[in-house]
Amino acid sequence: MIGDTPINAGYLVASALFIIGLKMLSRQQTARRGNMVSAVGMLLAVIMALLNSGLDYRYIIIGLLIGAVVGAVAALRVALTSMPEMVALFNGFGGLASLLVGWAEYEKTRSLWADEPASAGLMMLIGTALAVLIGGVTFSGSLVAWGKLSQKLPGRPILFPGQQVLNLLIALCALGLAVAFIVDPAGMHVPFLVLVGLSLLLGVLITIPIGGADMPVVISLLNSYSGLAGCAAGFVISNTVLIVSGSLVGASGIILTTIMCKAMNRSLSNVLFGGFGATGGSKGTAAEGEAKAIDTEGAYYVLEAANSVVIVPGYGMAVAQAQHAVRELAQLLEGNGAQVSFGIHPVAGRMPGHMNVLLAEANVPYEQLQEMDDVNAQMDNCDVAIVIGANDVVNPAARDDATSPIYGMPIVEVDRARAVFVLKRSMASGFAGIPNPLFFNENTRMLFGDAKASIEALVAEFKEA
Ligand code: NDP
Repeated sequence: MIGDTPINAGYLVASALFIIGLKMLSRQQTARRGNMVSAVGMLLAVIMALLNSGLDYRYIIIGLLIGAVVGAVAALRVALTSMPEMVALFNGFGGLASLLVGWAEYEKTRSLWADEPASAGLMMLIGTALAVLIGGVTFSGSLVAWGKLSQKLPGRPILFPGQQVLNLLIALCALGLAVAFIVDPAGMHVPFLVLVGLSLLLGVLITIPIGGADMPVVISLLNSYSGLAGCAAGFVISNTVLIVSGSLVGASGIILTTIMCKAMNRSLSNVLFGGFGATGGSKGTAAEGEAKAIDTEGAYYVLEAANSVVIVPGYGMAVAQAQHAVRELAQLLEGNGAQVSFGIHPVAGRMPGHMNVLLAEANVPYEQLQEMDDVNAQMDNCDVAIVIGANDVVNPAARDDATSPIYGMPIVEVDRARAVFVLKRSMASGFAGIPNPLFFNENTRMLFGDAKASIEALVAEFKEA
């Protein structure tokens, strides 16, 4: 063991690195380095915690090695489209870790508390109760979210009469037990175990009524919970850096949740209790007319003459893994004298920043990536908007049809461009499962096929010319 001063100094540096890293993550140019800075902060925090523990390192090293191998293999194998599932699992295990810390500390100290109730500090008791309660909800809720996203559980909302009353009752019982435990922990062993069980049950019950479509928002919220549980666990074991990092995760998770809700024009309570995606809801006004198809040769002639092109990627670009071909097409268009920009909707794809990550991987210059509002401001002067595997985020019904379930969601207004090419495989709807009138507009042409194959065919046309 080393003294408190160097340990606290180490924790302070680690906390500063977390904050600097988070700040750097907010800009694409600095995001990679921000990730490294935060990771160095975490390494320092772990080393300091170990030096401070006086524990036998053997088990810790074995645990570290197993965890590192599992984490590295999972991260290398995961497809980018499945990233929300992996985040769900990681959140869940974060919650479980906090629950176990709270529980283990309680088991360790409960005989002492029974003899000398005054020895249990108030912060320690509150921390223990919250680590178990929030950690349990986070763990089981995240497992359900993972199951829904990976389609191992039904994605539709599971609703039954009296569900919200039941959830409220269980939540009140759990809170009541937590308060009773905090007031007097002596003789509370069985109620404590009931609290563990109730928090796990609550996580399942509050997540099942939420549709698979809203799972990324739920995961972001659970991410915030995992931070709060970690913060509570920090109070249990008096670890300052855990309190700081837990608070940072808690706060950033809730900010991200708010951003996602805003981008879908939904309130958090609508996401949590609205049962979006349950059968029987309005699908909005049916889109009518005849969609006009175009082939790659026809699309090439229009693009070849275009002075300004906006590319709007969506989930289908991720599925097709078309980002490299898209970058090549953008370069060819620029070489041909066109001004090219990418219009990025905040919830395009299946996780926040999904499109930015894919396009960065394909080395698309950051300056070309424009936010929805900026790109919309130039849309009237755009010659061609190329929609690549996007659907809901360009659906004009969100702006024009008050009966549409996505009414009010801000969109990239590609329909205001002089011409619109929509690259997708069929007339099928997107994530929200609703029709898209854009496909029937006078200035829209459908370029059917896998997005990667279509873009590669366009690239080939440019190269041949
Ligand atoms: P959508 O899910 O609306 O549409 C994707 C389209 O891609 C489909 O219509 C599909 O049509 C097409 N597609 C699929 N595979 C391919 C392929 N290989 N080649 C070409 N096209 C393909 O995606 P958007 O990005 O427009 O919208 C995202 C949706 O996800 C929104 O509803 C948003 O609210 C929701 N969401 C997003 C979150 C986020 O954080 N990003 C979080 C929660 C929800 P077809 O089958 O005909 O090819």
